Amino acid sequence: MGLILEVAVESIGGGPGDAVHASWLELSASALRHNVAVFRALEGREGTARAVGVVLKGNAYGHGLAQVLPLVHGQVDVLYFIAPQDALKVREHERAHGLPPKQVLVLGAVAPQEAVVLAREGVDVVVADRSWADAVPVLRAAKLERPLRVHVHIDTGLGREGFTLDGLPRESHFLVEARDVLEVVGALSHFANTEDVTEQGYALAQLDAFETGLAFLESQLKSAKPLQRHIAASAATLVLPKARYEALRVGISLYGLWPSPETRLSARLVLGEVPVLKPVLTWKCRSQVVKWLPAGSYVGYGCTYRCPEPTRIAVLPVGYYDGYPRLASGKAHVLVNGRRCPVLGRVMMNHLIVDVTRAAHDERPVTATLLGRDGEESVSAESLAGWAQTIHYEVVTRLGAHLKRVVVE
Ligand SMILES: *Cc1c(COP(=O)(O)O)cnc(C)c1O
Repeated sequence: MGLILEVAVESIGGGPGDAVHASWLELSASALRHNVAVFRALEGREGTARAVGVVLKGNAYGHGLAQVLPLVHGQVDVLYFIAPQDALKVREHERAHGLPPKQVLVLGAVAPQEAVVLAREGVDVVVADRSWADAVPVLRAAKLERPLRVHVHIDTGLGREGFTLDGLPRESHFLVEARDVLEVVGALSHFANTEDVTEQGYALAQLDAFETGLAFLESQLKSAKPLQRHIAASAATLVLPKARYEALRVGISLYGLWPSPETRLSARLVLGEVPVLKPVLTWKCRSQVVKWLPAGSYVGYGCTYRCPEPTRIAVLPVGYYDGYPRLASGKAHVLVNGRRCPVLGRVMMNHLIVDVTRAAHDERPVTATLLGRDGEESVSAESLAGWAQTIHYEVVTRLGAHLKRVVVE
């Protein structure tokens, strides 16, 4: 029995993504290069040598860290992560390919033992609250060759991580006595409201608070080298030049997506033109079966759709398990042969039913584009997000980690 089971498992394969009928993601290397170049050109205009950094959290916004990291490593100056174990993958990649180390920064929480590993690997961390005082004895006991490089997070109005201006003097004081193991090299903050508006009053108040916090840190720490200051994510980088400082933290727009329609509008005003961003991701799926349903047939769970006429459907082996939002049921369309095909009935765990009566000419298998372009038509992450009452950030980061990802030119 044991033997038979082993053979069976082997033939099934290593994971859920190995199914023969499955959807896959195509990542455009040229679109990614183009988007990085857009941000390089922005800072070029100002004539300063600013670090262009990319945010690779959330499995590179769902695009796939394993595929995106090799594509961007040579093109950018800083790589930002939330999780320490993801940041360490950069060092693994560099060692495997004999590449010089890039600046890597962990934005998220770090346990004391993880801090030791990051220090040894030369990865920067963010000190955002006084719990870091607990890491100091652990770092001392580790007898590091060089101190851990840290960036101090100032909460200027997001109400998330970071020292508030009130708390900063009291709560960050331990850094002064911990210079032997914690070297403050930078300071950062994060905006609360740059995407949702076209006037940046709140962001400007945050910038003022950032300046106040920076001045305090500089007087408290009296560091020999100036701090690397960074506050701008995609939206502020594009529409608030004052916020660019020494480093940019570009997330969503690296992947070719605008943070919001408001950011796009503001870019026209601030930059005089709207830079072209190219979506990196295309999501495709080969049909499992194409067949006719007679008039009056129901489609999917709950019998929420009934065919008013004979309907040629394609059953696609993709569903909410893979990240296609169930809330898009009854609203979404996919593209087949360059034509829009409505999603019929409910999105299921592993299936989507689409109407291909006009898009297909017979019952041979079809390839559907769930996200991306097919001929003249395209489905954007923004559209899918709209149908599902969410934002495109959530749509792309929820794309299943099990999906096959292929890099195309
Ligand atoms: C996610 C994140 C970013 C990137 O934001 P985008 O809007 O995707 O560009 C930058 N900084 C921090 C702290 C973040 O959490």
